[in-house]
Amino acid sequence: MCGIIGIVGQSAVAPAIYDALTILQHRGQDAAGIATLEGHWLNLHKARGLVAEAFSQAEMDKLRGNVGIGHVRYPTAGGDHSAEAQPFYVNSPYGVALGHNGNLINTDALASELFESDRRHLNTESDSEVLLNVLAHELQTKKNKSLTPERIFKAVDVVHRRCKGAYTAIALLVNQGILGFRDPWGIRPAVLGMRETARGPEYAIASESVALDGIGFELVRDLRPGEALFINSEGEMFSHQSPEAKTLTPCIFEHVYFARPDSMIDDVSVYKSRLRMGEALAAKINRVWPDHDIDVVIPVPDTSRTAALPLAHNLGVKYREGFIKNRYIGRTFIMPGQEQRQKSVRRKLNAIDLEFRRKNVLIVDDSIVRGTTSRQIIQMAREAGANKVYFASASPPVRYPNIYGIDMPATAELIAHGRDEKQIQEALGADWLVYQDLDDLVDACREGNDDIGQFDTSCFSGEYITGVEPGYLEKLELRRSDAVKAQRREEARTATG
Ligand code: AMP
Repeated sequence: MCGIIGIVGQSAVAPAIYDALTILQHRGQDAAGIATLEGHWLNLHKARGLVAEAFSQAEMDKLRGNVGIGHVRYPTAGGDHSAEAQPFYVNSPYGVALGHNGNLINTDALASELFESDRRHLNTESDSEVLLNVLAHELQTKKNKSLTPERIFKAVDVVHRRCKGAYTAIALLVNQGILGFRDPWGIRPAVLGMRETARGPEYAIASESVALDGIGFELVRDLRPGEALFINSEGEMFSHQSPEAKTLTPCIFEHVYFARPDSMIDDVSVYKSRLRMGEALAAKINRVWPDHDIDVVIPVPDTSRTAALPLAHNLGVKYREGFIKNRYIGRTFIMPGQEQRQKSVRRKLNAIDLEFRRKNVLIVDDSIVRGTTSRQIIQMAREAGANKVYFASASPPVRYPNIYGIDMPATAELIAHGRDEKQIQEALGADWLVYQDLDDLVDACREGNDDIGQFDTSCFSGEYITGVEPGYLEKLELRRSDAVKAQRREEARTATG
């Protein structure tokens, strides 16, 4: 997953882009980058690490200009080499830089087409570089003519026809302005923001509304599925709806885990959808186990706290923060290799024994993916003196790979893959396990906006709205396995060492 922001301002934009990226940091901690337009020059700096590590004051000082884009990266389709930090840049036509959130699922076919027919060279394995080159090629084919909004939008229409998968992208077009577009199904989020200044209006496009809040922009609206916005350097905005647009199908995992609770996605408050997940889970527990003996509900910090509170309330039991998180450790999921992941859960969480001792505890997490976290947490609860340890997931079993930009392990590494709920309960070592039903999850996320017809729920249902080419899932499986990732890391290490 990644986070993106683009701003057309009336004064230097790099400081606001930097601030927005720090707010979007939860969407990617691997690398960060900013590109700005300064007259005919495109200034670009990108580096591995958190936003605060990637930019020094000296580098920020060089990012002059009133128009710019920024990106935080979470490795998905490509490898984890620093060459894959974004924005990517190509010098033709006229200079284009692009930041992408999502994942293309026909990258191999596009890469061959780009090389053989479009005569374009790709220097990384990143699908975002592919997306940029498809866009650049389509802009390029409008030869000898300046890039009017109509020409730019025609190019985006062809991008939608050629690229399959999930993508929100923001491109910086030298001498022109910024172009933002959302995939035809609107799988990945994108919002438009605005603020009035004494010199005139300023516009921003971002992955999440929380980034706008933090830099003083008002949320105007979400981009529609298949919509492209072009904002020129003078601050004029143009909108275009692609004929390729389909029914809005936003990714439900944004609500489950990924997005910040203080964001609005497609007019739905992420915080409120998580509250409703807790209410629905309580209703299910009351239904399937009316005479339960749960004494206390304890969330796994941080995401699940929002759902755990109404869950406890509606069950009529206490809510306690039994696990305390060390905030200065990165997310365990992104640490390479199983061994390191296992150690880091204990480094990250500590149990307050008194909240567990002699109690029947219901531990709540937003999702169970590999099960590594849940298994260790259940063990920690037992060591802290719990009588019975029950476990609840605010989302259904994750049984299928996510191909739309959420970093998930290989299918074989998902604890729910090939297991029924009883078997998962045993594998986790819980005394009882309950999962959210998919229909309840969908209702919880849709309640704020009846216009959302459907969600992308593929990692729970195995149904992929874009369709999948034969063999794609098998190939993905190979790339995502721990063994393959370890081998790639070793190759990268020997290449740089
Ligand atoms: P595990 O079951 O050990 O793989 O991890 C599940 C935990 O990881 C849950 O607490 C989630 O909050 C979190 N999580 C779920 N999906 C992701 C993801 N794509 N990237 C990072 N963390 C995630």
